[in-house]
Amino acid sequence: MSFPALRDDLGVAEGYHSPQLDVEVRLNTNESPLPPPSGFLNELAEAAQTVCYNRYPDRQAWALREDLAALHGVRPEQVFVANGSNEVLQSVMLGFGGPGRKVATFEPTYAMYGTIARTTLTALVEGERGSDMTLSMQEVRRVMGEASPEITILTSPNNPTGMVEPAELVAATVAEAPGLVLVDEAYAQFAPHSALSLLDEDTPLVVTRTFSKTWSMAASRLGYLIGPERVVAPLWEKVALPYHLDSLKQQAGRLALRHSNEMEARVVSIIKGRERIMDGLAELAVTTWPSGANFVLFRPQKLEGNQVWQRLVERGVLVRNCSGWPRLGGCLRVTVGTPKENDRFLDALKEVLA
Ligand SMILES: *Cc1c(COP(=O)(O)O)cnc(C)c1O
Repeated sequence: MSFPALRDDLGVAEGYHSPQLDVEVRLNTNESPLPPPSGFLNELAEAAQTVCYNRYPDRQAWALREDLAALHGVRPEQVFVANGSNEVLQSVMLGFGGPGRKVATFEPTYAMYGTIARTTLTALVEGERGSDMTLSMQEVRRVMGEASPEITILTSPNNPTGMVEPAELVAATVAEAPGLVLVDEAYAQFAPHSALSLLDEDTPLVVTRTFSKTWSMAASRLGYLIGPERVVAPLWEKVALPYHLDSLKQQAGRLALRHSNEMEARVVSIIKGRERIMDGLAELAVTTWPSGANFVLFRPQKLEGNQVWQRLVERGVLVRNCSGWPRLGGCLRVTVGTPKENDRFLDALKEVLA
């Protein structure tokens, strides 16, 4: 008897981890600081009583797709839904990437792209942002020209920089791409513009969204993609496992959409909180980057990022420690919390940097 060895290429790879600590103020994973509205929770509890648990769910999640399509002014045939936008990304790489194919990203960006590229055996091609973290069209052209990737990923707003890609850059990338362009809009609700307006049936562009951030549903694992039917249909029919979305989750997504007014009000208050954090950081010895998301990247100018992170933890405030990540030396990332949490963070940071 013996266990098979893990695939060689996975054995050497580092996993994706977001260390959690039990502290009072948790601002490290870009979630919503608030639970979903109580009306939603009551409706979900009711729905849980009526789900037909002995039957498989609607494999095509049709009702949820109709509701998402109505929200974005598209057709349900143009909507793919999965367990978080991470699974959406995985499905796209399984279907359109894979052995002998390439996916392009622009670093520093969301680390899961590299992880999913590896598990799906898609070659990862990394373009580079400038030292100010902006992405130039020249670099996008260079990468697309040299590598001819089947999939090019733009992230707007980008994680962990928070920066929004200019609409002209997104449009030019879509116009010039040798393959599919995927715009990851996990934080789009906090940003001034979206690539959704560029979508049509003849354009190889897909946009991904998630319920994890704005919708206070990170625990539910629900994300989706909007794109041309010829991309969406095979994701449902050939790539996703049958019945990958359970019935209660499909209901949860539909019920959440009924509370979009409350969600929009929260987005407004989070944007206010982001401005408050930016104003506070402007008075401290830190470098910041403009954010169109629900988080802010900053770099202490005099102390080491690691040290600042540790001292914040000692004061009950957990932020994301990016200080050891490639291209992000010394940087920390703070998620916008409630007004109280934002103040706790700013007060603690002021103390640490004093
Ligand atoms: C959080 C995040 C996601 C993943 O969201 P899930 O829907 O929770 O899987 C995708 N892309 C980016 C850039 C993110 O920051």
